[in-house]
Amino acid sequence: MSATIIDGKSIAAATQLEIKSRVTALTKRGIHPGLAVILVGDNPASHVYVSNKVKACGTVGMHSVLEQYPADLTESALLARIESLNHDADIHGILVQLPLPPHINEHAVLEAISPDKDVDGFHLINAGALMTGQPRLRACTPYGVMKMLEYNQTPIRGAHAVIVGASNIVGKPMAMMLLQAGATVTLCNSKTRDLAHHTRQADIVIAAVGRAKMITGDMIQAGATVIDVGINRDDNGKLCGDVDFDSVAQVAGAISPVPGGVGPMTITMLLMNTLEAAEKL
Ligand code: NDP
Repeated sequence: MSATIIDGKSIAAATQLEIKSRVTALTKRGIHPGLAVILVGDNPASHVYVSNKVKACGTVGMHSVLEQYPADLTESALLARIESLNHDADIHGILVQLPLPPHINEHAVLEAISPDKDVDGFHLINAGALMTGQPRLRACTPYGVMKMLEYNQTPIRGAHAVIVGASNIVGKPMAMMLLQAGATVTLCNSKTRDLAHHTRQADIVIAAVGRAKMITGDMIQAGATVIDVGINRDDNGKLCGDVDFDSVAQVAGAISPVPGGVGPMTITMLLMNTLEAAEKL
């Protein structure tokens, strides 16, 4: 293996130390950053995600509340709860864990969150702000990837970045952040013809599809930086990314692992967004 490992766990730990000291400073000024996490239903993966988020708040000295509701909660009851949190002075960030039960309109819920408390960065105002080069609260996963590239000192200006996966929560905001940082961006999706033709030209590859080990070493240019956003299970049930780590690490200059890569950064940037929302008061 020749690639440098981009260790998301240690970058997350360093970033959380910085957040903690800013939380302490803000608390001294009488503002104690607080996050409200709403979980509807009993999706087991969502339970793990929300409890990790709440735990992380404690690590940096933030206040958090976890509100759990049954799967048959009505959309209007959820919207009413969000509206009340929008006006709660102790809460600076509101996160509604996705996916929601099918009878609830996800878009309506995300748009109901005040853009100033939208710490997931999914509200149209925040997505539009990023799109027009005036970022406010940014989507946590791509924001975390930008931090990883910064720590790795990966040159972005003038680099060719190829993003595989174009979702609203990862691929698209990732493209906007890299574009704003001066990269030339190619954004691929499931209809892209000859994906390897694109990835082989990349100085930076971001994989965000959700297909185990689909990016292989022969698809990567020597020395490229490869960030793996995917979370999958391989044939043996072991956690793995979208990148075939063993073959890609032979050719890449730097690579992020799964687990221990983007995952810890996503939670950390949620804390950063909550802090930034509180600091703006
Ligand atoms: P989505 O399913 O919403 O989007 C997947 C994207 O990949 C779509 O744009 C789709 O294209 C594209 N795609 C599908 N197949 C291919 C293909 N063969 N070649 C190129 N593109 C393809 O997923 P998410 O963005 O929500 O998540 C992606 C992965 O990242 C998942 O594994 C998820 O678990 C993980 N994730 C990890 C996070 C973390 O913190 N580490 C946070 C968020 C997600 P099309 O638009 O044409 O359908």
